[in-house]
Amino acid sequence: MKFTGLLPIINGFDATGEPLIIAGPCGAESREQVLATASELHKEGISIFRAGVWKPRTKPGGFEGVGEKALPWLKEVKKITGMHIATETANAEHLKLAIRSGVDIVWIGARTVANPFAVQEIADAWKELDCDDKHEIGFLIKNPVNTDIELWIGAFERLYTAGIRRLGAVHRGFSSYGATAYRNPPEWRIPIEFNRRFPEIPLICDPSHISGRRDIVPNIAQQAINLNFSGLMIEVHCNPERALSDSEQQLTPSQLKSLLLSLKRPSNMPNPNIELDGLRNEIDILDDRLIDILAKRMEVSRAIGILKMKNGIPVIQNERYRKLITDRAELASDAGLDPAFIKKILSVIHEESVKLQLDSKLR
Ligand code: PEP
Ligand code: MN
Repeated sequence: MKFTGLLPIINGFDATGEPLIIAGPCGAESREQVLATASELHKEGISIFRAGVWKPRTKPGGFEGVGEKALPWLKEVKKITGMHIATETANAEHLKLAIRSGVDIVWIGARTVANPFAVQEIADAWKELDCDDKHEIGFLIKNPVNTDIELWIGAFERLYTAGIRRLGAVHRGFSSYGATAYRNPPEWRIPIEFNRRFPEIPLICDPSHISGRRDIVPNIAQQAINLNFSGLMIEVHCNPERALSDSEQQLTPSQLKSLLLSLKRPSNMPNPNIELDGLRNEIDILDDRLIDILAKRMEVSRAIGILKMKNGIPVIQNERYRKLITDRAELASDAGLDPAFIKKILSVIHEESVKLQLDSKLR
């Protein structure tokens, strides 16, 4: 595949080497909210404004976007500020309406990318569009919710085959089961592998949907810049506390300003450690998960301790402990780990559990 990339949309991007910044609210909620946020972002020098018009929600009842009636508000942003406007499209109808309203960049969301029928429908709709400037429209493809690089690439192939050349990839993390330090933990090795296979496609990071919490957005943004991502898509709202969706992860325009000022730019030299940085990030994330899991295990252990105490069962039960160690050692060995290593870890965990169950506060 040969791409022109998304970058030609931004004049001078290549010359300055600055990351491409796409910012704006999770959702367009009202004309006032859209215009207020856009005008503050414009003052900060942001040139691409994002706002979701149609919002895919995990469950019914959430804010599903105001729909089509928000498109004139985006158009107004473009007219007043000269910013490029971007929104999410999840089907053919969305695409047609967005393009008719002068949307410059559309993004295909993580849930839509996981559905090849929907991606194909969008590709076909673009192909059927009868307007000269359709080749100018940029398409950002978010990674699918699951860690399937081929599914992500498949979406690019569908758009490419339809004739779309102005493309960018967005890493927004992946769904995971249970509580983690992130809303959608990043898996840096996937965008890194994507970039290895398609170096001409600009890689953008969405630290907002990865983080789920505004306080860690800057850290994820910096990690992406360290990994040579071309840009960032960040959710910014003029009043995040009152946002109708993703309130906890949106920044104020001035928080975005501080984030951008604090970003350390990598040198223009190619980074020989890019792979090392990616792997280290992965270790950091796995360690976070280990800590989450250990904390949960201790909670369960504590509940067991209370039950034992209420029923007069002794804290230590050798038979159960022996069986636990043997079973886990076998599992570890099947997973390619040294059983002695896992025995050592389990014995330390068990020791801590016993200590917790004997804890005087429990008795
Ligand atoms: C969004 O960017 O508003 C969005 C819904 O993102 P994602 O598809 O990554 O969840
Ligand atoms: Mn959002």
